[in-house]
Amino acid sequence: MKRLRPTRLEDALEFRAEYKALPFAGGTDLMVRHRGYTGTLPKIQSPVLFLDALDELKTLEIVDGTLRIGAGVSMAELLAFPGTPELLRRAVQLIAAPALRNRASLGGNICNASPAADSLPPLYVHQAKVVAVSREGERSLPIAEFLTGPGQTALKEYEILLRIELPLLPEKGRLYYRKVGTRKANALSKLSSAGYAEIDKGKVLDFRFALGAVAPTVIRLSEAESLVQGASLKEIDTRAVSEAAETRIQPIDDQRSNATYRRKIALNSLMEFIEQLKTIVPEDL
Ligand SMILES: Cc1cc2nc3c(=O)[nH]c(=O)nc-3n(C[C@H](O)[C@H](O)[C@H](O)COP(=O)(O)OP(=O)(O)OC[C@H]3O[C@@H](n4cnc5c(N)ncnc54)[C@H](O)[C@@H]3O)c2cc1C
Repeated sequence: MKRLRPTRLEDALEFRAEYKALPFAGGTDLMVRHRGYTGTLPKIQSPVLFLDALDELKTLEIVDGTLRIGAGVSMAELLAFPGTPELLRRAVQLIAAPALRNRASLGGNICNASPAADSLPPLYVHQAKVVAVSREGERSLPIAEFLTGPGQTALKEYEILLRIELPLLPEKGRLYYRKVGTRKANALSKLSSAGYAEIDKGKVLDFRFALGAVAPTVIRLSEAESLVQGASLKEIDTRAVSEAAETRIQPIDDQRSNATYRRKIALNSLMEFIEQLKTIVPEDL
């Protein structure tokens, strides 16, 4: 196995383009995907491009109300950074266990493109953008366009994910995050959901809700969202919202859960957030 560990981004991009080298961040997905028999090293056919010595992938800064997270920033580093928004923090706290969070990167969680990746529903709610880089320069695209299917992304074979750009949300907004898994540590999600709502004088000004593990990619419930957005809290037609949500939810049966259960908990999750909003008393607004 050919191993490349550049310290300069331009060398990394050269290797990526010339050798079709496989980016390796924390390796927590890759080592599992390429594992062989017990006691043997993982079998990776292509040259491996280790990303851990690239400073450009380790940035964590807030610029003009947007948090810029280098793709190689680990889950533990995200939790230690005071500027990490609460919704993402709640999701990252529930990813695996501390040892894994020390290695696993946010970029790896995104590029692995699992519909059950826990960081994704908050990134969809924040309307995050991702920036890919190649020898030709940078290009930015919305997270929902980057993820194209289970295990599939819009990343070109000569590109590397450079950073994630997360527009921060107004602090007065209400947040919701729920992960349903078999147990707390080291359990991939049967479902994860994230929500954000901005309320003013009993009216919903902004409402966003994203679900993981119920469709080929993470989804926003746009039809249901538009029924809530603009409505007064008292008048939200929960039945219509639930029916609209159901048209977007297409779960599958797999080893972690079955479609019927996933559909049920997805709708319960949405309704739970709406019920929480309805309990807000005017003086709390
Ligand atoms: C025991 C265990 C428990 C887990 N629990 C959870 C959990 O609770 N929730 C959850 O969401 N996930 C979980 N995972 C999955 C995994 O840990 C995460 O997806 C993690 O974020 C992957 O990051 P990484 O840095 O290790 O990625 P890697 O394994 O290094 O890479 C993953 C993929 O992304 C590509 N890649 C990585 N970085 C870049 C880049 N900058 N540019 C281009 N391509 C890149 C790699 O080529 C590879 O295809 C678990 C895994 C294990 C083994």
